[in-house]
Amino acid sequence: MPIATINPATGETLKTFEPLGDEEVEERLALAATEFATYRTTGFKQRSEWMRAAADLLSSEQEDVARLMTTEMGKTLAAARAEVAKCVKGMRYYAEHAEEFLADEPADAPAVGARRAYSRYQPLGPVLAVMPWNFPLWQAIRFAAPALMAGNVGLLKHASNVPQTALYLGELFARAGFPRGCFQTLLIGSDQVERVLRDRRVAAATLTGSEPAGRSVASVAGGEIKKTVLELGGSDPYVVMPSADLDAAVSTAITSRVQNNGQSCIAAKRFVVHADVHDAFAERFVARMEALRVGDPMEEATDVGPLATEQGRDDVEMLVADAVGRGARVLCGGYIPDRPGWFYQPTVVAGVTPEMRMFSEEVFGPVAALYRVADVDEAIELANVTDFGLGANAWTTDPAEQERFVTDLAAGAVFVNGMVTSYPELPFGGVKNSGYGRELSAHGIREFCNLKAVWIG
Ligand code: NAP
Repeated sequence: MPIATINPATGETLKTFEPLGDEEVEERLALAATEFATYRTTGFKQRSEWMRAAADLLSSEQEDVARLMTTEMGKTLAAARAEVAKCVKGMRYYAEHAEEFLADEPADAPAVGARRAYSRYQPLGPVLAVMPWNFPLWQAIRFAAPALMAGNVGLLKHASNVPQTALYLGELFARAGFPRGCFQTLLIGSDQVERVLRDRRVAAATLTGSEPAGRSVASVAGGEIKKTVLELGGSDPYVVMPSADLDAAVSTAITSRVQNNGQSCIAAKRFVVHADVHDAFAERFVARMEALRVGDPMEEATDVGPLATEQGRDDVEMLVADAVGRGARVLCGGYIPDRPGWFYQPTVVAGVTPEMRMFSEEVFGPVAALYRVADVDEAIELANVTDFGLGANAWTTDPAEQERFVTDLAAGAVFVNGMVTSYPELPFGGVKNSGYGRELSAHGIREFCNLKAVWIG
């Protein structure tokens, strides 16, 4: 994949970049290692000041950064602005809470025969972050804010189609006052990741992206005995039971499925609806999907922009064609609009069966699969049928059903009567092939720390 900005709304190549050569990579690795030696000794107060300054800077540049993201990967401008605001909030959150999250944890000293005993969180070192294009700012900040506040330094290998956003991130922290080596962007292809990961100076890695990329990075890191956090794909279920507020369930279903032009790991992708309300839900859902305005993501009135890459659009088309070829019914959409760029019409498919790829694979575009179930047991069984386990939505006002869903949905998050979303205050991550480890909250900042047991006699 070339490192380039290609506008997905037009297909036009706007800017290309040469990947860094071995010497340039070496310079950055050396800088990261030397910087870590001193940066790790800075206090939380200093880091918080820099982090707040970075948040202020990003906030003041919201419009330019939002336009850059929209140009590079096609999300609507409104969504891009919201993403910037979310990053600013996340940065301020860690500036405020990092010290409390990483405070020494006292232990029972007499029980271990010590005068004092406690655990201390200490930074690990340079962490490699391999990141995807779909939330080009948020995915990187979600890693960077806690990592930097913990005293780690970051090396960002961003997706090849968002190089200018990557370069912006590489400068942001230095412009805000962080020493230059604290956060560096490596403009490299995915074929150069292994070499960086095997380097002794790199302590750990985090990857957000597809399952194959996760397997590859985790196996290299495993060979080197380096800690990894993996945030991979998802095919989140969206269960609607008879007691649900149907209007709210339909509205949120639309937002969840088409947010980010359908390219969110935690988008609801499989709509599992109880037979008693299935037809009413389907009628409203399809009508709302049909009414969405597909168009230029820079236009304020646009609901759904293009997919980020031509390959991504082709993948979605193939998944729908496979399902239709095996007997699924298209209730709306199901085609590529006649216009330049990599658009796909919002689509609802019914009658999806296990032999269709869409039943078990992630559809990374504005395509919803609709299922009818007879009861809560069947809903949970279908919800859990895929190899993914990222988020899960359940709509019911029945307390017993709520408890069933919370307990039995195999996912890293269960949202009842609301949309799966990431918040700095809540842990974020998956089970099964959606990955392991957690980002955000107190748990996220501790992932790349050495939890040192201290015993003083
Ligand atoms: P991707 O193709 O896996 O790319 C993600 C990153 O990994 C990019 O920087 C890519 O670099 C790199 N990469 C790809 N193959 C690699 C390999 N073999 N070794 C090392 N690095 C490699 O994924 P994507 O298409 O950008 O993103 C979509 C996927 O990410 C979806 O499955 C989505 O669900 C998932 N995702 C998960 C989360 C989460 O939090 N769980 C969040 C967002 C997205 P190049 O661009 O240079 O290939």
